[in-house]
Amino acid sequence: MSTLKAVRGTRDLLPPETELWNRVERTAREVFSRYNFGEIRTPIFEDTSLFARGVGEETDIVSKEMYTWEDRARAQSEKAQSLTLRPENTAGVVRAYIEHKLGEAGLLQKLYYIGPQFRRERPQKGRYRQFWQIGAEVIGPTSAGSESPLRDAEVLEMLASFLDELGISGWRLEINSVGSALDRPRYVAALREALAPVKHLMCEDNQRRAETNPLRVLDSKDPNDQELINNLPKIADYLDEDSKAHFAAVLAALDACGVPYHVNPRLVRGLDYYTRTTFEFTHGGLGAQNALLGGGRYDGLSENIGGPKAPGIGFAMGEDRLILTLQAQAEQQATLADYYIAPLAAELNPAALELARELRRKGLRIEVGDGSFRLKKSFEVANKLAKKIILLGEDEASTGVLTVKDFATAEQTKVARAELA
Ligand code: AMP
Repeated sequence: MSTLKAVRGTRDLLPPETELWNRVERTAREVFSRYNFGEIRTPIFEDTSLFARGVGEETDIVSKEMYTWEDRARAQSEKAQSLTLRPENTAGVVRAYIEHKLGEAGLLQKLYYIGPQFRRERPQKGRYRQFWQIGAEVIGPTSAGSESPLRDAEVLEMLASFLDELGISGWRLEINSVGSALDRPRYVAALREALAPVKHLMCEDNQRRAETNPLRVLDSKDPNDQELINNLPKIADYLDEDSKAHFAAVLAALDACGVPYHVNPRLVRGLDYYTRTTFEFTHGGLGAQNALLGGGRYDGLSENIGGPKAPGIGFAMGEDRLILTLQAQAEQQATLADYYIAPLAAELNPAALELARELRRKGLRIEVGDGSFRLKKSFEVANKLAKKIILLGEDEASTGVLTVKDFATAEQTKVARAELA
């Protein structure tokens, strides 16, 4: 008999790794509660039409990645119901918001969830068929301020705090506005027009997307199509005044609280329900599947699935990818030297060696650069080999007060030589 194994794209999580999973979930709960979010748990399967109407028929998720089956009819007169394992959780949360009339109190609902999601994607590192998401939604009637750009900025600031608190360094926030439900059709029409004369030059996938869902072309990573894509119209030029002002207000609030971001005009994301703000946090250490999390505003989603007007904004983090990033960081940290000493001139090489000897005797792991290196090169090499860099110039050598930069925190401080250990 052949031995049975976990199904392709699924995996077992075992100790001690599960401790890390618990730490991530604990940190999420702690951080989210400081922003006054409460937990929601929705069913793992739902009526298929929720995702068809909520996520969008033309998206990759709905058109080819869902686990869907016909449930047996209970009586002969009954029709079999089509059910689907949830591929994401926003549609389920909004369904629950409508079903339980959560908007009737006239307040914002701030809900978070942690749980498995299911997509029939091609498995690879960081991409599984059962994966975990930690997500949150802020949703409510317009009178509760659910459309305010402050909500977008607050959610983004919460995410930045969460990643920092978890100890994930080097994340990058990319942000864009895809406009309102009124802006989008004008932009899609312009895209179609611009794609018509060039689409035959693109890969097969993009030729199909150009027909079915032109926005998806912007997501394409096909290297041969990049130049054509970069020349397509930009959505920023199709936003109406309200959407432009909304986006500017989100960015201004991020500036005010010091959350760094990069505007990426091609960021449209794979789900149809997004309006206005869309965003992704990426991490270089993840390889091809570099998105740690994604999200955006969905002002029309509730109405799309038969509910009242209830604008909202939310995100979903790939918990598997948070774990991969933390594991890679821990591995890297374990092999890094404590300090990289960078002498700022060749004459200072002997002084650098002397300092290295002193620190090594105290048990520290030390790398020594070379005074002939340019400062930029010293920093690049040091960043790969050590946790911190010590700059050793004439002044530092004579005063014994050294400039130290910590790569994890990007903080630069002056430290007395005797205190380095
Ligand atoms: P999405 O719901 O597609 O916006 O995805 C949100 C986040 O979930 C992504 O940024 C990933 O971190 C994670 N994610 C999505 N699909 C998968 C998958 N198949 N395996 C692991 N993580 C995923």
